[in-house]
Amino acid sequence: VSRFGDMTMAPPDPILGVSEAFRADTHEMKLNLGVGAYRTEDLQPYVLNVVKKAENLMLERGENKEYLPIEGLAAFNKVTAELLLGVQNDVIQQQRVATVQGLSGTGSLRLAAALIERYFPGSKVLISSPTWGNHKNIFNDARVPWSEYRYYDPRTVGLDFHGMISDIKAAPEGSFVLLHGCAHNPTGIDPTPEQWESIADVIQEKNHIPFFDVAYQGFASGSLDTDASSVRLFAARGMELLVAQSYSKNLGLYAERIGAINVVCSSSDIAQRGARGRRVFYGDDARIVEMKVGKSQLKRLARPMYSNPPIHGARIVANVVGNPELFNEWKEEMELMAGRIKSVRKKLYDSLSAKDNSGKDWSFVLKQIGMFSFTGLNDAQSENMTNKWHVT
Ligand code: PMP
Repeated sequence: VSRFGDMTMAPPDPILGVSEAFRADTHEMKLNLGVGAYRTEDLQPYVLNVVKKAENLMLERGENKEYLPIEGLAAFNKVTAELLLGVQNDVIQQQRVATVQGLSGTGSLRLAAALIERYFPGSKVLISSPTWGNHKNIFNDARVPWSEYRYYDPRTVGLDFHGMISDIKAAPEGSFVLLHGCAHNPTGIDPTPEQWESIADVIQEKNHIPFFDVAYQGFASGSLDTDASSVRLFAARGMELLVAQSYSKNLGLYAERIGAINVVCSSSDIAQRGARGRRVFYGDDARIVEMKVGKSQLKRLARPMYSNPPIHGARIVANVVGNPELFNEWKEEMELMAGRIKSVRKKLYDSLSAKDNSGKDWSFVLKQIGMFSFTGLNDAQSENMTNKWHVT
C-alpha cells in the first residue's frame, strides 16, 4: 500500500497540454501556436549571438560556480533595475529600488506573492480577465486572494477600458493591481499612453499598489525604452511599485530562469531595510499597517524556498547589458525578433483579408502587439483549426 495512494491525478497544465497535443500530431504541416517561445523563419528556437558571445567571455574568464548571495548577482541586480527604469531615473539615482534576482518571471512573481501574503495579509490582487494562466496558480499557491478586472472586450476585440477602470475603482482600497507592462498575454492588447495615465489616476486615487509583470521588455515594440514606458510613467508619479522581470523572451534565456523582482519604494531606507508605518484606509476605519517591502524581507522569503538563485543567466545578462558593444548588438537582435513578429502579423492580416469574404474585420491582428493574438475564434472554429488544419 502506498502512502501516496490517496492523491488524485492532477489536471495537465492547459498551456503545456497544447504542446503535448502538438507532439502527438503526426501531420507534416502541423503548427504549434501554444507556447510563447520565439521561432526563426525556419521554425527553429533561436540562441542570440550576444548570448553566445557573453558565454564565450565567461569561459575565457574561467569564472567559478560558487554560490551567489540570496539576493543574486550584484552586477545583474544593478543592470536589470537600470534597464527597467532607465539609468537617469530618480528612482535609480536616489536608490529607491530594492532588486532581488528571481527564478525568471514566474519565480519573481512567486516571491512577490509570498511578500504580499506575509506582509499584506488579506490584501487582494486584481488580475486582468483574461491573463496568463499561471498568474492564478501563483497567487492560489501563495494563498493570496485575487479577483479579476475586465480587460478584453469581445465585441471590439480590444480593451474594455471602462470596465477595467470601474473594476479597479470598485476594489477594496489598498489592493494590488497586476498589470502587464507591455504585450499583454494572451490578448496582445495594451492600453494607450493616455489610458495608462487614467489607470495610474484611479490606482492612486484608491491607494492601490501597482504590480507590473514585465515579461517582454524590448520584445514588443523592438525598443527597450518604449516597452518600459508604462512602468516609468507610474514611477515618475512617485508611486511605490512591484515589478517582476523576465529575460526568457527578450534574451531568449527561457531555460536559464533569469529575472528579478523590483520593489520601488518611497525612500532608499525602506528599499534597503524595509520597514515603516503606512496608513491604509478600509472604509472609515483607518489603521496603520507595517509595510515591509525591503530587500531584507525578500531575502528572508527566498532563503527557505530555494536558498539562492542560479548564476549562469545572471552573468549573461550582466555581461550583455553592462558591455556597450554587446548591449548595442542585443538591441539590434531584439529589433530583428520584434520585426519578424510584426511582419508575420502583417502576412497573416494580408492573407486573411485577401481570402476571407465573411466581412470580418481582421485589423486587430495588426493592432495587437507582441507574440500573442486573441483571435476571437469560438471553440468550434478553434477545434476545426486543430482537427482539420493541424494548428494546435
Ligand atoms: N508573465 C507573463 C505575462 C508571461 O507571458 C510569461 C511567460 N509566458 C511569464 C510571466 C514568465 O515566464 P518565465 O518564468 O519564463 O520568465
